[in-house]
Amino acid sequence: MACVVLVEDDHRIRSALVRALSERGHDVVASATGIDGLNRIVERAPDLVILDLGLPDISGTELLKMVRAVSAVPVIVATARDDDSEIVRTLDAGADDYVIKPFSADHLDARMRAILRRAQGDGDNGLRERLVLVVEGPPGHGDPDRGQEPPAGVEDRGRDAAEVLAELLAIDRVAAAADLAQLVAQGVGIGDRVGA
Ligand code: CA
Repeated sequence: MACVVLVEDDHRIRSALVRALSERGHDVVASATGIDGLNRIVERAPDLVILDLGLPDISGTELLKMVRAVSAVPVIVATARDDDSEIVRTLDAGADDYVIKPFSADHLDARMRAILRRAQGDGDNGLRERLVLVVEGPPGHGDPDRGQEPPAGVEDRGRDAAEVLAELLAIDRVAAAADLAQLVAQGVGIGDRVGA
């Protein structure tokens, strides 16, 4: 049995997958949006994430980069797009495998088993022991470049995570950035031991 976070906005696919994976003994937590999915992933430190690329709030590829900033959890991307370059981008962004819709639950479960076997070998399938995050903006959340202190619990470590997050926070919409900052401010445990 694995704890699985499923991020899929199509409710028919989502409920079909929740049912099929639950029947196979997995503990499935489902989200319909990228930001909710990110919250679930941080909360639950799942064994595996199944991620739809076309989401209503942020793209699956952007979500994947956010996840990769904080977690080494295996990610299977489920996509309707059979475009090669999209798949390459997703794998480059840190996906472990992908399935193209429509796929059967048996097919997905076989991919999951293969990935979980590999992850067991690595012994690293949860949140990273020390989260490395730097939050820049939104205003009021502290910006070292503007002479402000970062929020309590946020530690300035690691250029890679900083670059990824700065890029993510600069993109798209303030809501996503605010949610991410809130997530951090809620004590996700920057610099602390978290999860698995
Ligand atoms: Ca979708």
